[in-house]
Amino acid sequence: MRLGVIGTGYVGLVTGACFADAGHAVLCADKDALKIQKLREGAIPIYEPGLEEIVERATKNGRLTFTTSNIEVATQCEIIFFAVGTPSQTDGSADLSFLKMAVEEVATALKQPAIFVMKSTVPVGTYHKVCEWISAKTKQKFEVVGNPEFLKEGSAVVDFQKPDRVIVGTKSDAAFEKISELYAPFVRQGNPILKMDPTSAEISKYASNAFLATRISFMNEISHLCERTGGDVEFVRQGMTTDTRIGKHFLYAGAGYGGSCFPKDVKALMHTGRENSVPLRIVTATEDANAFQKRVLFSKMSKHFGGDAALKGKRIAVLGIAFKPMTDDIREAPAIVLIEALLNAGASVSAFDPVAQSNAQKVFGEKVRWSDSFLECVQDADAMALVTEWNEFRNPEFEKLKAAMRAPVVFDGRNLYSPKKMRDLGFTYYGIGRN
Ligand code: NAD
Repeated sequence: MRLGVIGTGYVGLVTGACFADAGHAVLCADKDALKIQKLREGAIPIYEPGLEEIVERATKNGRLTFTTSNIEVATQCEIIFFAVGTPSQTDGSADLSFLKMAVEEVATALKQPAIFVMKSTVPVGTYHKVCEWISAKTKQKFEVVGNPEFLKEGSAVVDFQKPDRVIVGTKSDAAFEKISELYAPFVRQGNPILKMDPTSAEISKYASNAFLATRISFMNEISHLCERTGGDVEFVRQGMTTDTRIGKHFLYAGAGYGGSCFPKDVKALMHTGRENSVPLRIVTATEDANAFQKRVLFSKMSKHFGGDAALKGKRIAVLGIAFKPMTDDIREAPAIVLIEALLNAGASVSAFDPVAQSNAQKVFGEKVRWSDSFLECVQDADAMALVTEWNEFRNPEFEKLKAAMRAPVVFDGRNLYSPKKMRDLGFTYYGIGRN
């Protein structure tokens, strides 16, 4: 059975490549001609560990092909995954215009019955809208299925191939059977494929992301209490996470969450709450706390130097720009907020990211001094801020680091270093929520 994927970004390319690797013929489409050209030439337009090998394997054996034409997908595929972006609009709601355009284009060109699978994260009510968009464009039989994606950038391939669960939001048993069959190779260890109504599938995705974001914001708030009272959030985290009811994940205090999903999905859920007159107070507080947290590193710097004005002319080294390690994605990254604030205050910024640098250069251009290494970045710096916990930042040669800096001042936005060790080495050290 030939599968189609519309939108060949972080989710679409991983989806297409993994299904092709599992033996299906997959046609991936994207309206970005440059992206498709690169993929046809064997280059991967994004950084995602493990993806290159499977794309290469699947293209070589002819199972994975690429096109710029959604119409080609419409005429050749019975099951079509939609993985286009659903970015935030100014009021926080999800922008469904890319999805509408893609769905209508496919529906108009349909020559056979088809299943439209929503992989994009879409708000409550989208299922009904998509059904209406399709009905207005074709007389062919169709089903719409909600199949939200839960992969994490940086481990997207493994997450897709070993999902904790697969959600299939549909009213149709036949559609459920077909989608379940596709995922069967990935759930052989018994992880569930959950059939539910499309509305519950839509809510499940937003509720999951908002809950994870809430855990992070909760811990960030506890870090403020630690700082005020002399506690250490790392001890508190261990004290909490050893409780199996709480669990270990997403409870690290830091410089705030970013990325293409949590910020926009939290905002979209708040919007859905407002639209339905359901106050989502916890979700609203999560967003509020994160907006505050993204400014925490800047506030600490301002306080250290004696006010925003004192930052003028200071050289600040920013280590890590990607919103998390193992990705080149800088969407909503805390480092972007920090660099903007530093530039506004008149500081001169040098920056380094092992993978996301070229994306960051598109945002800041010549305003930032770009470096090729950790040590080059901190050269002559009055302070450094660690914002992304890349592995290569975990154990720098501290003596060389200290010698390279004009003043040995470290703002550790991910609590990578030991405060005691840093002080013993002669650094002025600021962590997040550390005594
Ligand atoms: P992305 O921006 O990387 O990719 C989207 C792609 O869709 C782009 O390449 C764009 O050119 C293409 N596109 C847009 N309109 C199109 C059209 N009409 N026809 C063909 N192609 C079109 O986005 P992403 O990060 O892969 O996210 C896609 C969806 O998946 C979003 O709804 C997102 O919320 C959701 N999601 C993302 C992640 C993640 O970690 N990135 C995880 C889970 C869910």
